[in-house]
Amino acid sequence: MNERAIFWFRRDLRLGDNPALLAANAESDEIVPVFIMDMDIANRAGDHRRAYLAASLRALDESLKGRLKVIAGDPIEALQGLMKEYGTTSVHVSADFAPYGIARDARVEASGIVLTKTGSPYAVAPGRVRKSDDTPYKVYTPFFKAWVTHGWRAPVSAPKKIAVVEIKDSERAFPQWDIPEGVVLPPAGEKAALKRWKHFQETELDEYDSQRNLAAIDGTSKMSPHLRWGEIHPRTLLAGLGSEPGHEVFRKEIAWREFYADVLHHNPHTSRDYYAPRFANMRYDKPGDKFQSWCAGKTGYPFVDAAMRQLVQEGWMHNRTRMVVASFLVKDLHLEWQHGANFFMKYLIDNDVASNSHGWQWTAGCGTDASPYYRIFNPVEQGKRFDEDGAYVRKYVPELAHIGGVAVHEPWLDAHGYSGGYPQRIVDHALERHESLARLAEIKV
Ligand SMILES: Cc1cc2nc3c(=O)[nH]c(=O)nc-3n(C[C@H](O)[C@H](O)[C@H](O)COP(=O)(O)OP(=O)(O)OC[C@H]3O[C@@H](n4cnc5c(N)ncnc54)[C@H](O)[C@@H]3O)c2cc1C
Repeated sequence: MNERAIFWFRRDLRLGDNPALLAANAESDEIVPVFIMDMDIANRAGDHRRAYLAASLRALDESLKGRLKVIAGDPIEALQGLMKEYGTTSVHVSADFAPYGIARDARVEASGIVLTKTGSPYAVAPGRVRKSDDTPYKVYTPFFKAWVTHGWRAPVSAPKKIAVVEIKDSERAFPQWDIPEGVVLPPAGEKAALKRWKHFQETELDEYDSQRNLAAIDGTSKMSPHLRWGEIHPRTLLAGLGSEPGHEVFRKEIAWREFYADVLHHNPHTSRDYYAPRFANMRYDKPGDKFQSWCAGKTGYPFVDAAMRQLVQEGWMHNRTRMVVASFLVKDLHLEWQHGANFFMKYLIDNDVASNSHGWQWTAGCGTDASPYYRIFNPVEQGKRFDEDGAYVRKYVPELAHIGGVAVHEPWLDAHGYSGGYPQRIVDHALERHESLARLAEIKV
């Protein structure tokens, strides 16, 4: 038994269902809880993500009765300082599988600090689910079947009693990152995550299979930021599912997150590079004015523009529209997927390198188990289908608020379509579709 153990919070900003915290608590009389703010990363993150993280840390601090240490700086120096101050060599964490986290932990361990790793941010840790010949899965459906067969542990409770060391003022480098003006972010933290999950279970979960693609309604769980920061563990979600169709589909979505983490684990270069290398040889355009229009939600395609504005206003975007805007960037503007992925990473509060890079590569047609490249989303038809009365567009694009119903997806057919100042289309989708297929033909072997 150690007198004290350091608990280093990273992507697990919660007390419940946190086996690493239980392990630290079991082997010590007092916990030294710390979050170490890497300012390089923080400076690269957008205002939305910084504000969300600050709120999440405040929530965690509250559940630790105001004793969470937040230290800005290098993890090795911060941990060595705490080890000396509290006379302990015990540092507990849950394993991080993102490339940055792996490299950081390797550096920390190389300095001589021993990290006791328990659990991960996944129901099944990346690398565990393998084919019978011990190779990783490359296709989602067989991965899903093997993942279900592998199974996962039941959630564990929060420590019944947790003694936390006193805190000094110098250890409270809480960031002052406020929500940017005009931006609306969801409440952060463990309590907010559990509340939202309960709400989703009681309202939309049963209809999830039929409603999850409808962009205008609140039909998905919005668990992604909570999962990203570990305010809730996926096991807690999985434990709340039954066998109804909505629940089955929801389980499959959780499995996509696990699949992409597994793929990235085996192919770390795919956070930036093409999973299917031949796509690196395709002819792409350089990002210029059209890219800026895409970022600003001013492409002249209402469904695309509504989605991009949702991203900037809320730090989140519906999954259906993530696919539509990604397809537009790659196949209508002929830009490399990384430009879009970087923009997403700046604004998303659920930014996750595995789901983002592979979500982009799936849509671009160059990832694992990808949607074939020749399948090109039509932004107008997608809008008519998944925002059938146009409410999503009207909510985010005020210049089109005067057009009722589904007609909002085609302002060019309305005599007053442009009276609110909405921009003209920056490209002709039909033409760009052909252009895209021509460029694909050039790299076909
Ligand atoms: C281009 C692109 C980029 C994306 N970037 C991210 C990202 O950075 N972070 C992120 O968490 N998700 C990303 N996704 C996946 C997906 O869009 C979001 O997880 C989902 O929209 C989050 O909303 P939700 O929690 O309401 O999802 P729900 O529909 O309620 O799904 C529940 C959970 O399942 C997981 N999930 C659902 N769909 C996917 C998927 N396609 N891939 C991986 N996991 C999934 C998420 O953890 C999600 O919270 C991306 C998808 C695309 C097409």
